[in-house]
Amino acid sequence: MDEKRCLEILDILNEGRLPEVEELAAFIDACAPAAFSGPVPEDAPAMEAEYLAGAGLENSSEGSPVRVPEDEEAGAVELRERLFALARERAQEHFGNRIYIRGLIEISNICRRNCRYCGIRADNARAERYRLSPSQILECCEHGYELGFRTFVLQGGEDGWFTDERLAGIVGSIKASWPDCAITLSVGERSEASYRLLRRAGADRFLLRHETADPVHYAKLHPAGQQWQNRMECLQRLKNYGYQTGAGFMVGSPWQTTECLVEDMRFLYRFRPEMVGIGPFIPHAETPFARFPSGNVERTLVMVALTRLLLPCAMLPSTTALGTAAGDGRERGILAGANVLMPNLSPKEARARYRLYNNKLSEGAECADHLAELKERIRAIGYEIVVDRGDFCLR
Ligand code: SF4
Repeated sequence: MDEKRCLEILDILNEGRLPEVEELAAFIDACAPAAFSGPVPEDAPAMEAEYLAGAGLENSSEGSPVRVPEDEEAGAVELRERLFALARERAQEHFGNRIYIRGLIEISNICRRNCRYCGIRADNARAERYRLSPSQILECCEHGYELGFRTFVLQGGEDGWFTDERLAGIVGSIKASWPDCAITLSVGERSEASYRLLRRAGADRFLLRHETADPVHYAKLHPAGQQWQNRMECLQRLKNYGYQTGAGFMVGSPWQTTECLVEDMRFLYRFRPEMVGIGPFIPHAETPFARFPSGNVERTLVMVALTRLLLPCAMLPSTTALGTAAGDGRERGILAGANVLMPNLSPKEARARYRLYNNKLSEGAECADHLAELKERIRAIGYEIVVDRGDFCLR
């Protein structure tokens, strides 16, 4: 794509409009040509064929071939900087220099599912499993409230111990003790009745990453029993019940093409989630994807910036995965249009065991107890962490 057309696409995006499919794909490639941080394993095509056969699918991907890092042209760097500047401007218009914080409480790393990218998948026999008790969860909230958190995110695997009644009871207790706080749940796919009950108990928001808007790609990332259609239906139900709903995806997951990313953008534009979590794929040693390279950080930042332009009011976290992939990843996420950080409020022993991917950050500025350090880092780039629920609203 030539420079003139790139700038025209940038104008379209800056008006909050979605470019045509091929043009958006070419624009993403022009901004960040490298999809992965290194070469993919030689047996990746065989794995792909096996997963597709298991799902009874044929490969529909006619997308761009897998890319590995190459010498970037100066044009890509310049284009990215222009994109990030527009995304920052849009975020400033809606949120000023405010950055919202959410206290993340990882309530359980027990999960019945087997997402192929996830370090706490059921088949990982080497994961040291834990579950926080209701009183431990409430202690985390108490501590978080003192630190200035006004949103608690209860995140965990799909752990059957957390029945609807138990989880609703915990949500109700948090609301009773800290009525000025918002509660976000991130506990996976549940029944319609469950989402309704939890909403009635006081849950305000729900994070459920869609992972990929391309059903064939979804089948490569998940075993056959996990259905893309169900994921999408869950997201719709959450919206219907009035949750501020969070979608999201990884950048650079195995077999992701630029066309997959365009589908993600088209889905977000249609669905209009209130929150979107975007982070680079990072492999975990005890998963089938252990030998795949991480997703490219620049490409991840490009997707954050595009999301900011297309969903100007959305709450966009600068994710832990970004902070893990690059030392200054959190700051760079904010400078690409993100406006939320989610420091970890979980007890220290739990934090170390909630290993979704290799080297996941859980100490230092990632830990809620080091909020002062995080505030300082954010102030250094011209932003301010605020004590606020940070609800979504159309401004
Ligand atoms: S990604 Fe979520 S649902 Fe999938 S295995 Fe990990 S914790 Fe379970």
